[in-house]
Amino acid sequence: IGMILMKNTTGKKIWIVKNTYKKTQAIVSALEALCLEAGFVFDEENPEIIISVGGDGTLLAALHYYETQLETVRFIGVHTGHLGFYADFQEHELEQVVEAIQNEKPDEAFKYQLLKVQIHFTDGRIKTHLALNESVIKRASKTLVADVKISDFLFEKFRGDGLSVSTPTGSTAYNKSIGGAVMHPRVHAFQVTEVASLNNLVYRTLGAPMIIAEKDAVTIELENADDYLLTVDQLEYFYDQIASVTYSLDGGVISFVNGGHTGFWHRVKNSFIGEVK
Ligand code: NAP
Ligand code: MN
Repeated sequence: IGMILMKNTTGKKIWIVKNTYKKTQAIVSALEALCLEAGFVFDEENPEIIISVGGDGTLLAALHYYETQLETVRFIGVHTGHLGFYADFQEHELEQVVEAIQNEKPDEAFKYQLLKVQIHFTDGRIKTHLALNESVIKRASKTLVADVKISDFLFEKFRGDGLSVSTPTGSTAYNKSIGGAVMHPRVHAFQVTEVASLNNLVYRTLGAPMIIAEKDAVTIELENADDYLLTVDQLEYFYDQIASVTYSLDGGVISFVNGGHTGFWHRVKNSFIGEVK
């Protein structure tokens, strides 16, 4: 009893977040056994460490589930498919995952910046979301028409399908698919990328991805319409009466357990290039 008590009082508080794949369940079972052996305590409500088992999407889900506890939690990711951007460990490295958790210290965690997404409604209400990858504003049926401001400076009138605002770590996700640049996470800036902008003799947008300095905010002032779609990572919101959306890089940070981390350009190469012949 003494042993168990000691383990319970000194063991790290952890929780495992997983996707629903069969393969994941087998990995999670093995991981749970190793975690118990290591004396970790399972605590869904107030974990110190969240182990995400699955893909990058699983990590995004875990982040949003624990969004209000980001100052006290650290994440660590195990990927069960191809190499993930937020999941550094592979399924055959579960011992290393446990070791990294045993050895980690909160002040040694590495951090990624989160995007703050502030929605201003026509009646004055404000709603805030945090994004790790990106937030996209789109309009369902008609052309989205919006004034784009960089801090207080009116930059352009955008017409097109929508605009994506991405963090550096999100730059390899949707942002890349729509022609945005891949940014190293140590670059403290964010990126605005157009989705199918209209450009002709009448309408003019920059037509290139923009890297916005950390000190600036980007505001998208929308025409009055009720068919906007706002995405925040994997989440979708159909809000009515949006007046504007302001994006800035002051959404705080997400902390990751420091250990076994693959370098950013290695991950980019592993995911998109493969072997150089
Ligand atoms: P999903 O539809 O399963 O994700 C699409 C793909 O994006 C998956 O292969 C996912 O990896 C990968 N991914 C997620 N974050 C990434 C990152 N930071 N860098 C590189 N690849 C990344 O949906 P999900 O898993 O819930 O992820 C939501 C994200 O998917 C969104 O934030 C958006 O960036 C991305 N997405 C991309 C497109 C597109 O490229 N056309 C369309 C919709 C959504 P895993 O398989 O490891 O989960
Ligand atoms: Mn996914």
